[in-house]
Amino acid sequence: MKNKRALVYIAAVLGIAALMAVVVWIKQLQRTGTETQAAKTEFIMDTVVEIRASGPDAEAAVDAAFAEMSRVEKVFSRHLKDSAITRINQGSGQWVPVTDEVMALLEKALHYSELSSGAFDITVGRLIDLWGFGTDKQKIPPETELAQALATVGYRSVEIDKSAKMVRIPSGTIIDLGGIAKGYAVDQARKVLEAKGVKSGMIYAGGDITTIGAKPDGSSWRVGVQHPRESTALIGIVEMENKTIVTSGDYERYFMDNGIRYHHIIDPHTGYPARDVISVTIYGSEAADADALSTTIFVLGLERGKALIENLPGYEAVIVDQEGNVWVSSGLAGQITLL
Ligand code: AMP
Ligand code: MG
Repeated sequence: MKNKRALVYIAAVLGIAALMAVVVWIKQLQRTGTETQAAKTEFIMDTVVEIRASGPDAEAAVDAAFAEMSRVEKVFSRHLKDSAITRINQGSGQWVPVTDEVMALLEKALHYSELSSGAFDITVGRLIDLWGFGTDKQKIPPETELAQALATVGYRSVEIDKSAKMVRIPSGTIIDLGGIAKGYAVDQARKVLEAKGVKSGMIYAGGDITTIGAKPDGSSWRVGVQHPRESTALIGIVEMENKTIVTSGDYERYFMDNGIRYHHIIDPHTGYPARDVISVTIYGSEAADADALSTTIFVLGLERGKALIENLPGYEAVIVDQEGNVWVSSGLAGQITLL
């Protein structure tokens, strides 16, 4: 009798367990059944941004990611009235309160300045203005004006008071986060997508590409590296999942004068566009870091750039020199198909 009751008990437990398994299975089926896809394009941070995602509510996720990128632009653009960067620039010479977010990105920028002995330097704002890049007043500046602007450049003069959450730059200095903010915005957009349950997605921001997971069909994303001299050609294709590539090139914003190309990536030590290479693509996991590194290595040039990237774990590079030679860092060699 006792045995029979035990058997009934075991059968009941097994029955409930089986029922629960079926419920979990149906729930999972429903979840994959409600997987949606969305793709949208907007113009943010002076560039075309496309976001693609698949997830439980892909459209809402993509909209939220765009909203986050717009928010980041409003904080970090120095061309928008009332942005945090505008307030620091307008308050030059005085301590200006900043948020933790602004403090963190400033510290990251200064980290890359330290790493490169000032090849990356957000205090180049006055030089950028003088050359007029990004405006219709691009010109080679007179030497005297260049010298004056150069005197306001120097990342070591950016003071940060962490406990008081204040920043001070010297009177007359202008900071410009154009070399790092787009990458940061892309990282933030990626985090929003992930928080909304997106397991497969892609953010394209003016040539910079960040991927989440694999493609919806399960294969890796195949991302092209732009040819620096032929706008419709690629120099290679990189297979990636959960990774980002960011490119800095002398073809993005430039003007020609007497057959010489003058472009928007400035060597903070000379005040002139950096000349050694023509494009630098960085591969890694964080777009803000990859963005800072692409600008940094562009300014450092081939030899110093190679040395920096080969000693930096987690980040790889493709560098194209003035002659069009393509150099690939050792950690990326197996993953890129050169064309
Ligand atoms: P990217 O396209 O990421 O290489 O960034 C280029 C932008 O970064 C320029 O348009 C400037 O706003 C800014 N920039 C130019 N030269 C430098 C530099 N040496 N260090 C930091 N930012 C720079
Ligand atoms: Mg950059």
